[in-house]
Amino acid sequence: MNTHYGRFGGQYVAETLMAPLKELEAAYESAGNDPAFRREFEEILRDYVGRESPITYARRLSDHLGGARIILKREDLNHTGAHKVNNTVGQALLARRMGKRRLIAETGAGMHGVATATVAALFGMPCEVYMGAIDVERQSPNVERMKMLGAKVHAVTEGSATLKDAMNEALRDWVTNCDDTFYVIGTVAGPAPYPQMVRDFQSVIGVEARRQCLEKYGRLPDQAIACVGGGSNAMGLFAGFIDDPSVRLVGVEAGGKGLASGEHAASINGGRIGVLHGSKTMLLQTADGNVIDTYSVSAGLDYPGVGPEHCHLHDTGRAEYSVINDDEAVAAFDALCRFEGIIPALESSHALAEAIKRAPSLPKDALLLVNLSGRGDKDMENVMRYKAGAKKAD
Ligand SMILES: *Cc1c(COP(=O)(O)O)cnc(C)c1O
Repeated sequence: MNTHYGRFGGQYVAETLMAPLKELEAAYESAGNDPAFRREFEEILRDYVGRESPITYARRLSDHLGGARIILKREDLNHTGAHKVNNTVGQALLARRMGKRRLIAETGAGMHGVATATVAALFGMPCEVYMGAIDVERQSPNVERMKMLGAKVHAVTEGSATLKDAMNEALRDWVTNCDDTFYVIGTVAGPAPYPQMVRDFQSVIGVEARRQCLEKYGRLPDQAIACVGGGSNAMGLFAGFIDDPSVRLVGVEAGGKGLASGEHAASINGGRIGVLHGSKTMLLQTADGNVIDTYSVSAGLDYPGVGPEHCHLHDTGRAEYSVINDDEAVAAFDALCRFEGIIPALESSHALAEAIKRAPSLPKDALLLVNLSGRGDKDMENVMRYKAGAKKAD
């Protein structure tokens, strides 16, 4: 089991959490060795989530750009409309195996909260979700969804009342109730073994996409591109190609209003090493080490840290991490709507924008595989508001 990734990772938690982390580690290891666990996971992904998700050649968009072919991995077609459910299915199965009856989670934009509430309903488990009070207000449709699915949402008013405060509250709940409670973390972050566990559950994305590329094109993609918030959809995609040195792995961070503005969510490109959420990671922080609230037009990329394995892949150079700003992401969002009839999530639009930048200078037989991590119905209002604001500024 991986607990450290070069300089990053580890278990920076209160002593009282070491025992539940050990218990989780042991349970995850035993589940990994049990074919029945794997079989049930795969069955739910197939019959409930609707896997496998296809890959789609974005033909009109690629023709328009006049270079590489852009291929989309369609995580937007999963039940609940994004990749997050792959992971919450896995963790809920593990919770049940461990005899935990209650699920807790923290959420920023609310997407992970919805994915957790979804599997809690599926498995008949009570579910409580911690969410910063400011986020509760900003993301009210997702709060309504969670409640509709039977979850209880706690509005956290401590600190800046956003994601990092919700994380602290969730950890506090877990310390108090670890006998009967499973803490579902939504990305490849948090203390070990979460980064490895979430990567494994999401690796279905990359494993499928690799096979699909070989079947359809007779070769591997030249580049595998994914947006990076905490990094779970990217790590899931990368996992399929990490042993293929010919495939460039490209993570795309949210540049918000630009790196220089300070208003962004680019933890690798704009952060420094620090500890967040029980793990050593690249972190957006002030000179004296206070965590900075992130900004991005896409709420789902608003995580002030990033998974430790990404930090290490950046260190070693196996993966590269670029930055896409709000305006470029919104332009890519529009392009996919108009050229392909697909409304992408604003998060995924960051990965797409990077492919749109790279494609024209590449040969026509090059393949750029983009992880379309989610669908954009949830972002309609946000995009319209962004465009209205941009018009006013002109
Ligand atoms: C949450 C979310 C992300 C960002 O999370 P990662 O852990 O970085 O994958 C990206 N895309 C969508 C659609 C999301 O909901």
